[in-house]
Amino acid sequence: MPLEPLRLQLPSPLVEVDDERLGDVRLLLKRDDLISPEVPGNKWRKLRLNLEHAGELGYHTLLTFGGAYSNHLRAVAAAGAQYKLDTIGVVRGDELAAKPRNWSLAYCEQRGMRLVFMDRQTYREKHSTEVVDRLHSEHGDFFLIPEGGSNALAVRGAMDVPGEITAPYDVICCPAGTGGTLAGIAAGAPPGVHAIGFSALKGDFLTDEVQRLQAEAGLTTANWRVETRYHFGGFAKHPPQLHVFATDFEARHGVRLELTYVAKMLAGIYEMAANGEFSPGTTLVAVITGPAESGAGGT
Ligand SMILES: *Cc1c(COP(=O)(O)O)cnc(C)c1O
Repeated sequence: MPLEPLRLQLPSPLVEVDDERLGDVRLLLKRDDLISPEVPGNKWRKLRLNLEHAGELGYHTLLTFGGAYSNHLRAVAAAGAQYKLDTIGVVRGDELAAKPRNWSLAYCEQRGMRLVFMDRQTYREKHSTEVVDRLHSEHGDFFLIPEGGSNALAVRGAMDVPGEITAPYDVICCPAGTGGTLAGIAAGAPPGVHAIGFSALKGDFLTDEVQRLQAEAGLTTANWRVETRYHFGGFAKHPPQLHVFATDFEARHGVRLELTYVAKMLAGIYEMAANGEFSPGTTLVAVITGPAESGAGGT
């Protein structure tokens, strides 16, 4: 039975950015950040079919994993509250158990999520049979959603993004953390469109991950690549030049940018456009996968 989504703005708006710095490149923003204040952006895309599936299988509890400021953990907590499912959040770092909750973990608890703190060594093995079996013996039956929410159903959910775009375009860009969003967007893109995932992390492992996720979903395509130049020092690093870019973008276009993923992608797009890396006349769609952090300063 499909879920009756509450107050979701779908399809999400597609808006053009008028900016002379882009030269001959046309840029459209796919405002997935506006889908829902509670379960925004790609987190809604990736959770939708997982929530449906968990409901169909009769589960009453969702369990997932995340760091101390995880967007995914907050989204699962909010979705569980909306769809009357219990939620357990396994948090990286057992030292956090005794500390006052940061804004992100406090939000999760306010939505009824039970937080379980896991030491970092065990957390590295969190998806192993041993750790999952132990979680089952401690917490009973649950539907497991992997860290970051990326699985085959998430990939299928992300295919909806290009499916909503009726205007013609050449390239679709999205940020990438675990790669599930890129895997789905590429799989759903129309013929001739190329997908670029801007990695928010240092390193080169995402290409393998996206390939693995597409294969898991039975949706392998060759129309995408991972762009690794715009991690700005690594995951959750927000150096001054990133703040400068985001502040300037907001002043010009009235859109406040999420820093960990979205601002890095857009800064990358602007630099690539300035370098002439897109052929003249290219129409780009940039997927705004989430809203600016609501917490104090946002990390
Ligand atoms: C979680 C998140 C991502 C990363 O998505 P993946 O599917 O893990 O690659 C990108 N943007 C925002 C705003 C996010 O919250």
